[in-house]
Amino acid sequence: MLLPGATLGVLGGGQLGRMFVLAARVMGYRVVVLDPDPQSPAGQVADIHLKADYSDAVALLHMGGMCDAVTTEFENVPAKSLEMLAKHCFVAPSPAALAVAQDRLAEKSRAREFGCDTAPFADIEDEGDLVHAWSVVGGPALLKTRRLGYDGKGQARVDSLDDLVAAHEELGRLPCLLEGFLPLHKEISVILARNPAGEIAFFPLAENRHARGILDLSIVPAQVPEATAETARQMAARIAEGLDYVGVLAVEFFVLEDGRVVFNEMAPRPHNSGHYTLDACATDQFQQQVRALCNLPLGDTRLLSPVVMVNLLGDIWRPEPNWGELLRHPGVQLHLYGKAEARPGRKMGHYNCLAPTVEEALALALRTRAALGIG
Ligand code: AMP
Repeated sequence: MLLPGATLGVLGGGQLGRMFVLAARVMGYRVVVLDPDPQSPAGQVADIHLKADYSDAVALLHMGGMCDAVTTEFENVPAKSLEMLAKHCFVAPSPAALAVAQDRLAEKSRAREFGCDTAPFADIEDEGDLVHAWSVVGGPALLKTRRLGYDGKGQARVDSLDDLVAAHEELGRLPCLLEGFLPLHKEISVILARNPAGEIAFFPLAENRHARGILDLSIVPAQVPEATAETARQMAARIAEGLDYVGVLAVEFFVLEDGRVVFNEMAPRPHNSGHYTLDACATDQFQQQVRALCNLPLGDTRLLSPVVMVNLLGDIWRPEPNWGELLRHPGVQLHLYGKAEARPGRKMGHYNCLAPTVEEALALALRTRAALGIG
């Protein structure tokens, strides 16, 4: 068990790293961030910011020497870097778990092994696999790059074999997954934490609405039947246990029109759809990441209030949103990530709307969103 006073490290300096650093420092840990960007959101608030590439051997050695445990805020960390660090300190999640989450084929195949339902899918290594994939999946379908896709990037809808050939070329003929297009009723996420002792704690399910492929709103509690929520929790737990996962894990599911719960993807870290926990749960997802990494007993995940989270993207910086208008609502809690430059689609911050009922929280979210010019 690593107690306050220990030094924790995080690979990656984005907003997820920043919120981890803030949580850890409040709890009395020292935190080292590795990120090449001198202005990085997490670097700004860390005790020590190592400004170097994620595969810089000298920086990794330095980090490993200073830290008692290291985690990551994104899935595309080079496996070698984690292996190097693991020689010096405790590293979680494991390089093997990250490797699964980096690759859509691996994550869907493993999820199936663990008994989760998925969309029909077929692997496309190169052009030679297109006809076979089309015969297995058929249309309508989505073509997704196996790696590095996020927020709807690296994917295309296809309705014919000709579409598929054109889309594959458009995506640079990268290894892809062809996936059946499903009739979605809702999208939900389960965020859980698992510590090295194997204890699991679930946060309340979030119901997620996207705009142009990027998370727009999370509504909690999710408006789904308890049986649906329980199915999703059980699937997420089987994945965490199957991978011997340590840390915070986010698992996204589709709820189909016929009620089926289908695994979509996972993130081996805290997740945008868990930001509501910062203001609405007894323990938030970043405090829980600290607890899991340090092998502490996991915190109470109880929901203290209905909540709706609204994402703030760079699109509304013209040049700066009217924060006065937003903050005149007592139920609004604002979180900004310290990013100097606003770009369209860039996640700049979020806010949580708390209210006595989820309907009121949603109404507050929609009203304030409109006032900020979102949507
Ligand atoms: P992903 O990057 O896999 O999370 O996909 C981005 C978004 O595309 C999801 O949040 C869904 O709204 C939609 N989507 C992804 N896969 C499917 C599918 N198989 N059927 C229908 N919609 C999908």
